[in-house]
Amino acid sequence: MKRLSQWLLALAAFVFLNASALAAGKVQVTTSFSVLQDLVQVVGADRVEVHALVGPDEDAHVFEPKPTHAKRILQSQLVVTNGLGFEPWMAKLVKSSGYKGLVVQASDGVTARTMPAETGGGVETDPHAWQDPTNVILYVRNIAAGLSKLDPDGAAIYRAHAESYVAELQKLDTWAQEQIATIPAPKRKVITSHDAFGYFGAHFGVTLLAPQGISTEAEPSAKGVAKLIRQIKQEQIKAVFLENMSNSKLITQIAKDTGVILGRPLFADALSKSNAEGASYLQLMRYNVKALVEGMQMN
Ligand SMILES: [Zn+2]
Repeated sequence: MKRLSQWLLALAAFVFLNASALAAGKVQVTTSFSVLQDLVQVVGADRVEVHALVGPDEDAHVFEPKPTHAKRILQSQLVVTNGLGFEPWMAKLVKSSGYKGLVVQASDGVTARTMPAETGGGVETDPHAWQDPTNVILYVRNIAAGLSKLDPDGAAIYRAHAESYVAELQKLDTWAQEQIATIPAPKRKVITSHDAFGYFGAHFGVTLLAPQGISTEAEPSAKGVAKLIRQIKQEQIKAVFLENMSNSKLITQIAKDTGVILGRPLFADALSKSNAEGASYLQLMRYNVKALVEGMQMN
């Protein structure tokens, strides 16, 4: 009897110690924005604890870091950024925090798109690579590689999670292609607040126009807006959308001026909060594709 109770005590202690070691031993990850938080959580599952600096429905283009954000980075073992100029504040923030750990740029290996710059006549890199699900395959593999470097014991698990998610992404891509194929090519035209859907448009064969460029920061020119309004009228574009993370009075005004009814807002540069329809990357994409197809049907 004594031996059994001793054994049970030892077992209880073992379970307790392991549980607390696991909680304390989670890899601490900070991502720049919510989409990356979801991807790291998918790959890392219960081996990671992930925080995003720019949360759901928030705009990374105009984000202003506070000292608490620097502290968050310093407490991390891994920092994950999008790159391609999406978070211009990130390098400075990492440096000022004193963080010396690993930084993974999730978009590494992506073929970057460029767009004519708003001013100066040059070109700008389009950072919104995650709007093409085939790019996100690279994102999750980069994340798995980064986590494996820090936590080699979990490498096989990270790889398995990443590859099963890649299969999900490929399914999503096939489904999205089928949905968009239901719209005749000349009708595949959409207006959004800013140029967040260039990769989406290039991949799925949809023309996306916006009064604002690749950042929500720059003010659109009156000339540009007038040209867009003419184009909407001439080409009878009815698919006009707001975005979840930018409050664009301009697009509302454009819709009013052209007599177009706005579609439900798209998820552009952020996930939604957990109670809405874009709480994960896969949900975000399914929702956007449905909303865009509904909008283009009216063109
Ligand atoms: Zn953007």
